[in-house]
Amino acid sequence: MNAAFDPLRYRADFPLLARKVHGKPLIYFDNANTAQKPQTVIDAVDGYYRDYAANVARAVHTLGEQATAAYEGARDKLAAFLNAGGRDQLVLTSGTTQAINLVAYSYALPRLQPGDEILVTQMEHHANIVPWQLVAARTGATVKAAPIDADGVLLLDRFEAMLTPRVRLAGVAHVSNVIGTVNPVAEIARLCRARGIPLLVDGSQACPHQRVDVQAIGCDFYAMTGHKLFGPTGTGALWARREHLQAMPPFFGGGEMIRTVSFDGTVFADPPHKFEAGTPNIAGFIGLGAAIDYVQRVGLERIQAYEAELLAYATAALQSVPGLRLFGRAPHKAAVLSFLIEGVHAHDVATLLDHEGVAVRSGHHCAHPLMQFFGVPATARASLSFYNTREEVDAFVRALDKVRRLLA
Ligand code: PLP
Repeated sequence: MNAAFDPLRYRADFPLLARKVHGKPLIYFDNANTAQKPQTVIDAVDGYYRDYAANVARAVHTLGEQATAAYEGARDKLAAFLNAGGRDQLVLTSGTTQAINLVAYSYALPRLQPGDEILVTQMEHHANIVPWQLVAARTGATVKAAPIDADGVLLLDRFEAMLTPRVRLAGVAHVSNVIGTVNPVAEIARLCRARGIPLLVDGSQACPHQRVDVQAIGCDFYAMTGHKLFGPTGTGALWARREHLQAMPPFFGGGEMIRTVSFDGTVFADPPHKFEAGTPNIAGFIGLGAAIDYVQRVGLERIQAYEAELLAYATAALQSVPGLRLFGRAPHKAAVLSFLIEGVHAHDVATLLDHEGVAVRSGHHCAHPLMQFFGVPATARASLSFYNTREEVDAFVRALDKVRRLLA
């Protein structure tokens, strides 16, 4: 094991992990859905409401200045975290979903013509499919999906072959939320750039598990979500190349995003504020700033190394369960294990595991096309984080065995 990494040291920072469910110690294996929050994040949110709650970028009084400094400070932390290049390249959003919709409506929609294509992959989350379908339907464009192999690895040569001159934009998950596949996004960005095709990377599942450097990836847009990164819900961001943000029209209009307004016309603020109409989730972003401080302290390289070991351990342990089918065996994958037990519905597995204190997700994981590829309506999914332990994996496998004997 990663000798220097002691998950127990960090567990104590997450108050919720100490609770019991149905009288059993909670084993929280639903981290790809949303991650738990350390005390420092809870304190940051609480501190804003207790000590300096005020709106941002409007009031000159002390509370307003403190709130604005903390909120914009969170943007700076996130910009450094992603190596954004500049704080003006980071639009704060409610999450990945809003970030991708912003690109779909503000960047893609005005550019799409009948016959154009948007290229995604078979393993995308609905957030990286449906917004493209919506703008495609308005313009006569189509959405195409590059295939994957039986292990859940993107067929890069097929992806490349599909990058025809008709493709106006490509969208690829950095890490699959269902099968954990880590896609070679820098290589994909290189292929796209060589053809002048802008690339959006959906980084929802990458940011909590590995260091992300948007400039090193070389993509055009990078969408992320804060609640999977141990921050509050309703937080996230779109990073984009400066020239794109400058060229894109605003998506939402209202307060905070203008320089001047008259009935003769409105002059918009510069990016990123041009895309941030209305009062934002101030407390949430202050919490996200604390979450970023937290993961930086733990160290993303250490998190990644520990989770790789835990994934190997959990994979071997699951393979010992008779009748268990594992989905996704990419050589380069994050600690996400989708599975089914022969003859048992995924929801029954998740319900019975809950009675043993184990929280896993079951269902289609917002990835219907991937379920269709595997020929199943649903899977159960255990998604691990750095605060999970081998002992929890052992208890999970014992609970699974109980479920299997009861239902299979
Ligand atoms: N993309 C991926 C790969 C995801 O896992 C998720 C969340 O499950 C999303 C997008 C959507 O994120 P959010 O709901 O935070 O906008």
